[in-house]
Amino acid sequence: FPQEKIRNFSIIAHIDHGKSTLADRILEFTGAVSSREMRDQYLDRLDLERERGITIKAQAVRLYYQAEDGEVYQFNLIDTPGHVDFTYEVSRALAACEGALLVVDASQGVEAQTLANVYLALENNLEIIPVINKIDLPQADVEKTKKEIEEVIGLSAEEAILVSAKLGIGIKEVLEAIVKKIPSPGGFREKPLRALVFDSWYDPYLGVVVLIKVVDGKIYPGQKIRFYSTGKVYEVTKVGVFAPEATSIDMLVAGEVGFIAASIKEVREAKIGDTITEAQAQVAPLPGFKEQKPVVFAGIFPVDSDDFEDLKEAIEKLWLNDPAFSYEMETSAALGFGFRCGFQGLLHMEIVQERLEREYNLNLISTSPSVKYKVRLKNGKELEVENPAKWPDPGLIEEVLEPYIRAEIYTPKEFLGQLINLCEEKRGIQKELKFLTPERCVLVYEISFSEVVLDFYDKLKSYSKGYASLDYQFIGYKPGDLVKMDILINKQPVDALSLIVHRDKAYYRGRELAAKLKEVIPRQLFEVIIQAAIGSKIIARERIAPLRKDVLAKCYGGDVTRKKKLLEKQKEGKKRLKAIGQIEIPQEAFLAILKI
Ligand code: GDP
Ligand code: MG
Repeated sequence: FPQEKIRNFSIIAHIDHGKSTLADRILEFTGAVSSREMRDQYLDRLDLERERGITIKAQAVRLYYQAEDGEVYQFNLIDTPGHVDFTYEVSRALAACEGALLVVDASQGVEAQTLANVYLALENNLEIIPVINKIDLPQADVEKTKKEIEEVIGLSAEEAILVSAKLGIGIKEVLEAIVKKIPSPGGFREKPLRALVFDSWYDPYLGVVVLIKVVDGKIYPGQKIRFYSTGKVYEVTKVGVFAPEATSIDMLVAGEVGFIAASIKEVREAKIGDTITEAQAQVAPLPGFKEQKPVVFAGIFPVDSDDFEDLKEAIEKLWLNDPAFSYEMETSAALGFGFRCGFQGLLHMEIVQERLEREYNLNLISTSPSVKYKVRLKNGKELEVENPAKWPDPGLIEEVLEPYIRAEIYTPKEFLGQLINLCEEKRGIQKELKFLTPERCVLVYEISFSEVVLDFYDKLKSYSKGYASLDYQFIGYKPGDLVKMDILINKQPVDALSLIVHRDKAYYRGRELAAKLKEVIPRQLFEVIIQAAIGSKIIARERIAPLRKDVLAKCYGGDVTRKKKLLEKQKEGKKRLKAIGQIEIPQEAFLAILKI
């Protein structure tokens, strides 16, 4: 295919501004998907994406479009997620593109991730085409949105395309703008092969599948290729594109995006960000990607200890598809063998756990999330601690440092008061308050990240009726008065329930947590005492009274089906229970701190 007729582009936007819906209309308009096969958010292929209505993984599809100039163009469209936890997916996708459609919801205007995504696109030198979406809504304000695009983002909105992705208005204009404004990819077909790996996953039939952008040269079945970072050589078995279903093709050439398989068995050998070259050639590698450091940590354990090996295999495979989480083996006195995992945020943590459970059929327990602290000891050593179970003895500690972020909150002005209160309550320090327009402003705070991890985002959304949005960057570590709180169940400390808290809030959190645990731990045949303690000092105590009767005693008289039903119900309820000593503790107990 002529290289000057290739267009590689992404759709970027704040969450819910209509990226996936616009992608649907483009698939339809170009005939890639017939209206009979069409379903909403076509490219959200994971069940989880469809249920939650959010995009988690970037997707690359190939389309052909006959433009007004009569020529046929090859489009490689990459749909991307919008949530802050998945920024790394966006940045990888953008590395494979020359342009981006920036979608802005005309009823919402510019929001935190709109701006964050624009910065990513600029870093990758992409041509940005502003698209104002949802113009069908009665609340849509096109002029105001244009003004925000110019004043907040600094892009000219004169030629912004007015679209209703829902009703299919303005789609042709979008496709023509892609042809006219986005440059064709550079690179040389005659040069030796260099391809950038920007995603990969494990397929039960093909082995490891690698999504690539060919920068120079070509790649075809039978070719011997080498992964630059490992030096391993493979023979390509299959080359293909998503159109939008997986389709085999003869080769991919410079400028094109597609997938390859090469009987790669070891999941770690196809690293995202690596460069693929010909087996013999000596060429310089492509720049690759910045490593994504996880910021939130939690333990993941199998409910049934026999599943440890299965969990290990599942984590290794999932990691290939999502290198933004990290893992290392962990043993807990309470929960047995498992993994300490690192994530980009709480949503990311939830998604990883859910994908492990669904895609690999596992039943898991996760512990309460923690950030990474730096602990300076009196002997001069400094430790990094992200697991409360590994907190050093308080007598040895000189100083504790905690991570801080610079949070930018975009909000309509009527919620300003409540949001300021929220930030102050979270020990935040106000740095800036700017009005973007007379109605909208951005509030900048420095806040301890551990406060944000707990429930900040949910509160932000509820205080602002969903209108405020958040973006943040890490700015470093600052001293904090932090202590470890232990939870004792019948006098036994449960390592997996301990947590790090701010001293000022320890009493409050301890009492609330003990009360919450009392709610979620089922009654047992014996009395259960729950205590929260700091060091040897007990700060809260709750008691769960013992069960008097066997549940079955209620169906005395022996209606067999009813008895069976009850037993099944009990079994059902047991699914996510982990036995600690003699007590069965449900998943909710481990995450109770998030609910305070
Ligand atoms: P994404 O998170 O950016 O991928 O957004 P989605 O494409 O999933 O859309 C979010 C919501 O906005 C969905 O409920 C869509 O039906 C709706 N939506 C998308 N485009 C339009 C539009 O042009 N008009 C209206 N009224 N709703 C839209
Ligand atoms: Mg989407």
